[in-house]
Amino acid sequence: MSKHITHWIGGEPVATAGAAPRRGDLFDPATGQVTGQVDFAGIAEVDQAVAAAASAFADWRTASIAKRTTVLFAFRELLNARRDELARIIVSEHGKVHSDALGEIARGLEVVEYACGIPQLLKGGYTEQASTGIDVYSIRQPLGPVAIISPFNFPAMVPMWFFPLAIAAGNTVVVKPSEKDPSAANFLAGLWKEAGLPDGVFNVVHGDKVAVDRLLEHPDVKSVSFVGSTPIARYVYETGTRYGKRVQALGGAKNHMLVLPDADLDLAADAAVNAGFGAAGERCMAVSVLVAVDPVGDELVDKIKQRMAGLKVGPGCNGDSEMGPLVTGVHRDKVTSYVESGLADGAELTVDGRKHPITAEDENGAPTADGFWLGPTLFDRVQPGMSVYNDEIFGPILSVVRVSSYEEGVALINANPYGNGTAIFTNDGGAARRFQYEVEVGMVGINVPIPVPVAYYSFGGWKASLFGDTHAYGADGPGAANPLKHHFPVRAGSRLVAARCVFRVRV
Ligand code: NAD
Repeated sequence: MSKHITHWIGGEPVATAGAAPRRGDLFDPATGQVTGQVDFAGIAEVDQAVAAAASAFADWRTASIAKRTTVLFAFRELLNARRDELARIIVSEHGKVHSDALGEIARGLEVVEYACGIPQLLKGGYTEQASTGIDVYSIRQPLGPVAIISPFNFPAMVPMWFFPLAIAAGNTVVVKPSEKDPSAANFLAGLWKEAGLPDGVFNVVHGDKVAVDRLLEHPDVKSVSFVGSTPIARYVYETGTRYGKRVQALGGAKNHMLVLPDADLDLAADAAVNAGFGAAGERCMAVSVLVAVDPVGDELVDKIKQRMAGLKVGPGCNGDSEMGPLVTGVHRDKVTSYVESGLADGAELTVDGRKHPITAEDENGAPTADGFWLGPTLFDRVQPGMSVYNDEIFGPILSVVRVSSYEEGVALINANPYGNGTAIFTNDGGAARRFQYEVEVGMVGINVPIPVPVAYYSFGGWKASLFGDTHAYGADGPGAANPLKHHFPVRAGSRLVAARCVFRVRV
């Protein structure tokens, strides 16, 4: 039966039977079949969602921190109990394998758990006698309705980078998920309701640029947390800040993995295959360029080729699949076009993913031949200037660049416009220390290919991978998403102090 995904506003799905003027198709990437439709919001629907969030804000910001924490704990328990169900929803629209979907939920849960510690995170500061007879303190206050605009590749995790902290801190939220896999956001909305979150605190609008533009210009939206490709991230940052909003906009990536001659090459090959082809390369922290320092290139490429040959490519719902399809036919065609352009530019096509065997049926026996497939692909002797090197491909294509020294490798990485993640593989502690010091990238792994920070450290890249001053979650979270910090000078004995309850602690 065809599904119909609609907006979630004021604590319930919006009834739009036959009424939504614009809709998008939803696909099962493993079969290529249309499985349903999603409504696209116009200005009126966005305004309705923001109005619900604005009206809920008055009560939610006054709810005690104890009350907010109780709701968060309940949400955590519900999500944990129903993670398998959510993973199936993600697999059915995104295509990634079930274990990957569970992995992204686990990373989202980490942020929910971190947000359960909001009483500690929201503590302010107080300095007595900053000037004679004058004390100073700082507190955090919620902003109001905040917008979260997310990409297709982590339909549960990326919204969860932001909304647990935003809600815990007393804000209300409008999420605009990717139109390619919108159902996860509605599932999360249902869990919030069950957890006891008041209606209107968490809202979802679906759609495209029309919805995003309205959120960016709406006067009641106080901040925007965006994750997506660099051109759109830049646009969102520039537009949102022009409208006076606080904006953090995380963009695309081209992540390099540098392999020194002393590295454990089996470890490096395993890491390159996992980080290059996991989730079909549709990860902002995927490794897309392997930088092999002479003389390891030949041996490393051989080891990677052997591992690629054994990769099981098939529907994400099949338990033994290690890599699923790409998200849409359009995206698969774009990614596949890089196989042609790499060849035309003179790179060596070492493994051609177009020829990789694909499992022919899904767990229900449905044929998968029309799915959005491309097998793992390896280009060797890639050089800057080739489109396979320059562009973020966001698919299962790994490029090997050969360099003659550590210095040449670091210079290559630092010259790249992106700066999301990177890794070095070496057994030399000095080289590892030097790399993390010299490399101009936001997240760095040492013998770890995908160095995604845990929830209590913030996530975010440098250069064209992040626009704005704050990162996602971690220590930046309560400030970024999005309570303000206020500094009040307090004159001792003034009416302001008399009006407040101040606990004095003898030290
Ligand atoms: P995208 O930029 O196409 O879309 C992201 C969001 O922006 C979606 O909600 C989409 O509906 C909206 N959007 C698309 N076009 C728009 C336009 N012209 N105007 C306004 N809004 C628009 O990205 P995607 O294809 O969904 O996701 C993949 C991209 O996200 C990759 O570039 C990847 O690197 C990036 N990403 C980055 C991070 C990070 O942490 N830096 C994390 C995940 C994904």
